[in-house]
Amino acid sequence: MSRVALVTGGTRGIGEAVSLALQEQGYTVVANYGGNDEVAKAFTERTGIPSFKFDVSNFEKTKAAMDQIENDYGPIDILVNNAGITRDGTMHKMSFEQWDAVIQTNLASCFNTCRCVIDGMRQRGFGRIVNIGSVNGQAGQYGQVNYAAAKSGIHGFTKALALEGASKDVTVNAIAPGYVDTDMVRAVPEEVLKKIIATIPVGRLGKPEDIARSVLFLIRDDAGFITGSTLSINGGQHMY
Ligand code: NDP
Repeated sequence: MSRVALVTGGTRGIGEAVSLALQEQGYTVVANYGGNDEVAKAFTERTGIPSFKFDVSNFEKTKAAMDQIENDYGPIDILVNNAGITRDGTMHKMSFEQWDAVIQTNLASCFNTCRCVIDGMRQRGFGRIVNIGSVNGQAGQYGQVNYAAAKSGIHGFTKALALEGASKDVTVNAIAPGYVDTDMVRAVPEEVLKKIIATIPVGRLGKPEDIARSVLFLIRDDAGFITGSTLSINGGQHMY
């Protein structure tokens, strides 16, 4: 029987590419999404991948949904924490709501989902967790104290959980994408985006598939020696 993989925010953008790549490799894939029913419905019709709506920033709702997924499809062996949002603004204008929404959705969500699967992974002696961070969590970004803090937190979370899972073949890694061509980046004003692309040595935005391929690499059964690492995929924009 094929391993079950859950991709949060798996119905569009980077998450969609990850869901499709996993499906192509024969995994049983379940995609989560937050609220965009129309996109999720079209995604499921097009791909046959079931989509589950739940808010990853809410522990109780996440737990109920993940219990349901495990009940319907089997234990989750692969978890890709990809759901994320931006609510940009300079600190002196940022509301608490902007701060809190980004911390809860991008960072607290990793606790919420991992907490639901970690016991099972440890007991079965196998687990693959990939958390999607960001170049802006590594380098900081003007107007993004909330997002940079959340993504930077993901990198620390990854290393700590990697230590805890290491002896049980539960690996935990992060990917730090640079600018990738999705709705999130299309929301950046064109002039700003042009300036950003000018700072990317390969001269283009990343494609969602660039990120999906590296998820496939990290979640392989034989990738057990790769844990606690952060893979930077940013076209050479920042080299850490
Ligand atoms: P998109 O905005 O294209 O898609 C975001 C996905 O996350 C959607 O499926 C959305 O669901 C889901 N989502 C948002 N909030 C919640 C929530 N509360 N509960 C459940 N699902 C939720 O984002 P990208 O594909 O661009 O980004 C994916 C990840 O990669 C994010 O973590 C982002 O921070 C990170 N990243 C992106 C970069 C980029 O340049 N695009 C660069 C670096 C990192 P719905 O459709 O229902 O809204």
